[in-house]
Amino acid sequence: MRYSGFRILREALRGHRGWGPAWRDADPQPSYDIVIVGGGGHGLATAHYLAARYGARRVAVLEKGWIGGGNVGRNTTIIRSNYLLDGNEPFYELSMKLWEGLEQDLNYNAMVSQRGVLNLCHSDAQRDAYRLRGNAMRLHGADAELLDADAVRAMYPFLNFDDARFRIRGGLLQRRGGTVRHDAVAWGYARAADSRGVDIIQNCAVTGLRIEGGRIRGLDTTRGPIAAGKVGVAVAGHSGAVMAMAGLRLPIESHVLQAFVTEGLKPVLDGVITYGAGHFYVSQSDKGGLVFGGDIDGYNSYAQRGNLPVVEDVCEGGMALMPMIGRARLLRMWGGIMDMSMDGSPIIDRTPVEGLYFNGGWCYGGFKATPASGLAFAHLLATDTPHETAAAYRLDRFRAGRMIDEKGMGATPNLH
Ligand SMILES: Cc1cc2nc3c(=O)[nH]c(=O)nc-3n(C[C@H](O)[C@H](O)[C@H](O)COP(=O)(O)OP(=O)(O)OC[C@H]3O[C@@H](n4cnc5c(N)ncnc54)[C@H](O)[C@@H]3O)c2cc1C
Repeated sequence: MRYSGFRILREALRGHRGWGPAWRDADPQPSYDIVIVGGGGHGLATAHYLAARYGARRVAVLEKGWIGGGNVGRNTTIIRSNYLLDGNEPFYELSMKLWEGLEQDLNYNAMVSQRGVLNLCHSDAQRDAYRLRGNAMRLHGADAELLDADAVRAMYPFLNFDDARFRIRGGLLQRRGGTVRHDAVAWGYARAADSRGVDIIQNCAVTGLRIEGGRIRGLDTTRGPIAAGKVGVAVAGHSGAVMAMAGLRLPIESHVLQAFVTEGLKPVLDGVITYGAGHFYVSQSDKGGLVFGGDIDGYNSYAQRGNLPVVEDVCEGGMALMPMIGRARLLRMWGGIMDMSMDGSPIIDRTPVEGLYFNGGWCYGGFKATPASGLAFAHLLATDTPHETAAAYRLDRFRAGRMIDEKGMGATPNLH
């Protein structure tokens, strides 16, 4: 069924009896050509592009819970392509272009809102670094503007300009950045993939990988064994656990990242702001809640809830940046499991096991990467060659010393 304004009108007139499920509730088949493990944004996008652009048939996505229950439905919805390094910027700019055409591509309203992302700077050195980054972005065809403090004040007069410990000196603005409704992205990709014959199988956890003679043969799942020609793993926070089933140890740690939303307010914030003197980012959802987050919890965990020290740290960041946030009541908070790589950049690559492919290491920033990650992973699975924009995301770069460390922080997950 195609969604359209006309369809909404028609259904409104006949009591909404014509809407069907957005995707089939598929049962697992004995075998597939390609199985994607993980029904998050990346797994579903991969399945969609495999079917839509590479003509793949007999594809399944196995999800241990429900579609949208992982990080894809838990993030703070920010999209941007404001990266410095050559290994990253073309990839994230491809993602931005795919976001710009996503709703037409999927025939699904994902509420893509290019409301602008402003990174604040608080020192001369930080402003110089932003100038460098902005120039790198523009060289790759992305948009970037360096604002001085007066321009920031004109946009957001409620920020603390007058007595802040770290004065606002300006900011790097990407107007094409913004927000997207996160779970609609999962639903839109699921529906589009399903419409091309992909089986989306929920409540189906992968419990083992069948490997014979160095080659993947299939998977063990809670719904029985499934034979597979190729297996692509895109399980975000569970990357280490699933790849351990193939005997592989990854340069990735799992940490909780928390997010927060206040009660609904009248419109006060029409863009996304990130604080440069602490870890705090905030936007306002279309329902009115201020959605914000900060740092990861500093210990390894698979729990989807965090602890109070980070809550305090995030709220302090918010109060330092925009004291008026202290008047808003917190409505909800939650956590997701982040796959933090050791250089802050992702991995999209083959593995030493023939037919087994890996996509992970997305750290804080995998939501904005969803379309490009899906396309690049589909390209790799279909052609056995890396997509041109993801060619640097090799698994062996940590051993070879070809790190893609945007911030030059080294192997310290909480600083990426
Ligand atoms: C609080 C928070 C805020 C964030 N904010 C942003 C942001 O503003 N912008 C941004 O770009 N990024 C953000 N991120 C990061 C982003 O959400 C993630 O990097 C991205 O969603 C990860 O990819 P995914 O969608 O495929 O992951 P998930 O949705 O987590 O998908 C992985 C799936 O694999 C499944 N799985 C795991 N093990 C198995 C198994 N054994 N068998 C079958 N299935 C399995 C899981 O159930 C899960 O559904 C944020 C994350 C969090 C938690």
